Amino acid sequence: MLSVLRLGRGACRRTGGRAAAAVRSRGGLLGQVRLASCLLQELRERYLDAVSVTFGARCVQADWRQSGSGGQEVCRLTFQQQSGSSSSSSSTGSTTSTISVTASSSSSSSSSSSEAVTEWVEESSFVIGADGAGSSLRAAMETSSSTPFSVKRFPDKNTIVYRTIPLFWPKELATSRPGDVNYSARTKSGINLDCLPTKEGPFIGVMLYKPGDKRIAALKTDEDVRALFQEHFPAFLPAVREVDLQRFADKPDCSLPTFSYAGPVLHYGHSTVLVGDAIHTVKPYFGQGVNSAFEDVAVLEKALDETDDDAGAAVRRYSQLRAKDAEALVVLSHSLDGGFTTFVGPLILDSMLHKLAPKIFSPNIIASLQNEAWSFAQIRARKRWDRALQVGLLAAVGVVLLRMAAALLGLASKLLGRVGAV
Ligand SMILES: Cc1cc2nc3c(=O)[nH]c(=O)nc-3n(C[C@H](O)[C@H](O)[C@H](O)COP(=O)(O)OP(=O)(O)OC[C@H]3O[C@@H](n4cnc5c(N)ncnc54)[C@H](O)[C@@H]3O)c2cc1C
Repeated sequence: MLSVLRLGRGACRRTGGRAAAAVRSRGGLLGQVRLASCLLQELRERYLDAVSVTFGARCVQADWRQSGSGGQEVCRLTFQQQSGSSSSSSSTGSTTSTISVTASSSSSSSSSSSEAVTEWVEESSFVIGADGAGSSLRAAMETSSSTPFSVKRFPDKNTIVYRTIPLFWPKELATSRPGDVNYSARTKSGINLDCLPTKEGPFIGVMLYKPGDKRIAALKTDEDVRALFQEHFPAFLPAVREVDLQRFADKPDCSLPTFSYAGPVLHYGHSTVLVGDAIHTVKPYFGQGVNSAFEDVAVLEKALDETDDDAGAAVRRYSQLRAKDAEALVVLSHSLDGGFTTFVGPLILDSMLHKLAPKIFSPNIIASLQNEAWSFAQIRARKRWDRALQVGLLAAVGVVLLRMAAALLGLASKLLGRVGAV
C-alpha cells in the first residue's frame, strides 16, 4: 500500500458533535500514516471511554442472530489475533479462547511454525464494516440469503501492477520542484511513473506497468534498475538513492484493486452497514478512494441524525442515500479505465464543448468528480446526458454535411449538364 493518498474530491473536517469526516475542498495530499495516526489520536483523546482499539486482529467470520427477550438483531464477529499483536484496551463483553494454528513460514514453503492465535467473538447491535476491498463482513453479507445485498465485480481488462521507490531530490534540484505537487511521467514504453509528495520530504515514486513486463521482470541488480531509469526516466535518476536501487529490483509486483460495487443495499438487517472500499472499489488514478470513504461516513452520520440514532432505520436510510452513488462512482471510474479512447479522448472533447457551451455541456470528468456539490450519481447522469447530446450533435453535423454534399453534387451535375448542352 502506498503511503500517500491523493485527494481528488476534498479533505476531512469535523462535523457537529461526531467524529465524522466530510468532503469540502478541491484536492490535496494526505500522508496515509499521518491520517491513520490522526484518527487514532482523535479516538484516544475524545472517545476512549466508548471505543477500544485492537491491532492485528482479523475478522474471520460474521453472522447475525436475535438476542435477548426483545429479539434484537446482533451481528456476531469472530476475530483472530496472533500472539505478539497488541490491543490498546481489552474488549469488554466478548468471549475469548486461545487456539493454536499452523502458519506457513514465509522463508520456505516446506517448513512451518506453530503460532498461538487468540480467537474471540464480539457481538454488537450496530456494526460499521470498513474492512476494505477484501471485506470479510461483505463476504458474509453476500452469502446470506436473507438480504438483497450483492456485489458486482468487473473483470479487469486493463490490469496494471506497480512497485514503489522513494525519491529524494538533491537540494539543488528540490528548490525548482514544488514539494506539494504530484508528478506523472508518461512514456511510450508502457512503463509510467507517478511521484507523490510526502510531508516528510521524499516523494514516493510509483512505477506502473503491465503484469509480466519483461523489462521489469529482468531487473536483478542495482545496475539493472539504474539502466531502466536511465532509459525511461533519466530526469528522476538523481532522486534515487543507491540503496533503493537493489530494493526496487527485489520487490514483488503489487496489484491495483479491481472495480466492484455493492448494492442495491449497503446494509444487513437492522444492525450492519459497510463503508469505503467494501462498497466501492476503484483504481486509484482519480484519487477518489479515500474521499468517497469520507463521504460514506458523512452520509451515515446524516442517516443517523435523520433517524434519531435508531440503528435499524439509519442503516436503511444510509442505503437509500448512498447505494446509487457507490454504483455511479465505480461505473464512471470503470468506464475511464481504457486509455485514449475511453479517457483522454472524452476528456479533451468534454473540455472543449464545456468551454464552448458551459450551460449545455458539463465540465470534464475530473473536474466534475472534484465538484463535491454533485453526487456521483448526478455526475453519472450528467455525463450520460452529455454523451447523448454529443451523439445528437455529431449526427446533426453529419446530416448537414451529407445534405451539403448532396446539394453540391446536384449543383455540379446541373452545371455539367449545361456545359454538355452548350
Ligand atoms: C496503490 C494504491 C494507491 C492508492 N492511492 C490513492 C490515492 O492517492 N488517493 C485515494 O483517495 N485513494 C487511493 N487509494 C485507494 C485508498 O487506499 C482506498 O480507497 C481507501 O484506503 C479505502 O479505505 P477503507 O477504509 O475502505 O479501506 P482500507 O484503507 O483498505 O482499510 C481497511 C482496513 O481493514 C483492515 N482489514 C481488512 N480485512 C480485515 C479483516 N478481515 N478483519 C479486520 N480488519 C481487516 C485492513 O487491514 C485495513 O486496515 C489507493 C489504493 C492503492 C491500492
